[in-house]
Amino acid sequence: MTTKTSATKVEQQEGSMFDAVLARLDIAAKIYGLSEEVAIVLRSPQKQVKVSLPIIMDNGKIEVFEGFRTIHSTILGPSKGGIRFGMDVCDDEVKALSAWMTFKCAVANLPYGGAKGGIKCDPRKMSVGELERLTKAYTVALADVFGPDKDIPAPDMGTGAREMAWIVDAYNKVYRGNFPGVVTGKPVGIGGSLGRETATGRGVMVATLAALKKMNLDPKKVTAAVQGFGNVGLNAARLLSQKGIRVCAIGDHTATLWNEKGIDIQAAIRFAKENNNTLKGFTGGVEIKNTELLTANVDILVPAALQNVITEEIAKNIKAKLIVEGANGPTVPAADHVLQEKGIIVVPDILANSGGVTVSYFEWVQNSYGHYWTEEEVNSKHDTSMNEAFEHVWNNMQQYKSTMRIAAYITALKKVEFGIKAKGKY
Ligand code: GLU
Repeated sequence: MTTKTSATKVEQQEGSMFDAVLARLDIAAKIYGLSEEVAIVLRSPQKQVKVSLPIIMDNGKIEVFEGFRTIHSTILGPSKGGIRFGMDVCDDEVKALSAWMTFKCAVANLPYGGAKGGIKCDPRKMSVGELERLTKAYTVALADVFGPDKDIPAPDMGTGAREMAWIVDAYNKVYRGNFPGVVTGKPVGIGGSLGRETATGRGVMVATLAALKKMNLDPKKVTAAVQGFGNVGLNAARLLSQKGIRVCAIGDHTATLWNEKGIDIQAAIRFAKENNNTLKGFTGGVEIKNTELLTANVDILVPAALQNVITEEIAKNIKAKLIVEGANGPTVPAADHVLQEKGIIVVPDILANSGGVTVSYFEWVQNSYGHYWTEEEVNSKHDTSMNEAFEHVWNNMQQYKSTMRIAAYITALKKVEFGIKAKGKY
């Protein structure tokens, strides 16, 4: 059931991101034998909202920003997914990311559908006051879309606990009450969960260890390169090195560093904290090019920054045996077959970075109970859930003789198909 549009886009290095979702969906649907009536539902997001947000800037002038929220599916529960602030945010990106959330939540076995939102802006160039006004204007504009049992945002690129606190505040004011469960990733102390901030990086670590075990590799004898030093990359690098993995390369948008003996990750974290969250000027390694990190001579590659970084060309030069996708959509569809032919195991984004949304779910559960768990409880529930999801996908990979990526899609499709069929039609 591969359609002409997506087949054409597969050939491209960087086509529409939503087409990249459909390309994988089509392959998985064919291998699994998904019924066409389910496939057509999944090819179209349920709801797409676009809002204009006029904000008073610090200079007294009004600027109008574009805000987006796409709800891809609510078949398995209220829709869940982050909010991204960045200059690349657009309809296509948000749509693709919303579909990935549907599949990610299903792979992680959470009672959620998928959504994603964003605002086209450059948060690095805005003051805290401007960002607060923008976040609150966005929340008010989407107050009838969001809701603890309807659609639940969370942090994504360019946003964090601070923005989530602003969202809950604006939402509470619209509905005149207290609704901590309307958003996850809040600061601890106002309904946030312990362990949420580090959860995505922790999930990457757990998935990496699970994959190494299957590959019969000892964590203490392998090396890794981690692209990205934001919330996901930083915590992944920190936790991987804590497990004895030698992290030889790290990088962010300001600098990429290599050290064959292993980078001192704690020192890198301290440096970044003191330098506006950037690595430029860190002397714990020699500077290399951004793309050299992806093709570095290491066993494990963790792309935890942007989408579309592993192109077909880059894939041909990758030396790692294992790729664990911390970012959403780091590999373009055209690179999939190259990685497969080279025998590289790819733990796909919808599994590898599902630790974040898993602990978001725990936060939401704690909010509705009004009872809060210890960090150890959260981490241990997270690790169990991540290992189960990994095992499930691994088994499907063997059963369907596919890649792990396609097996993850199949795992999700089975659950969503059940939901669509059980709920019936009209
Ligand atoms: N933005 C994160 C993701 O892409 C977290 C989403 C959530 O917790 O709802 O998975």
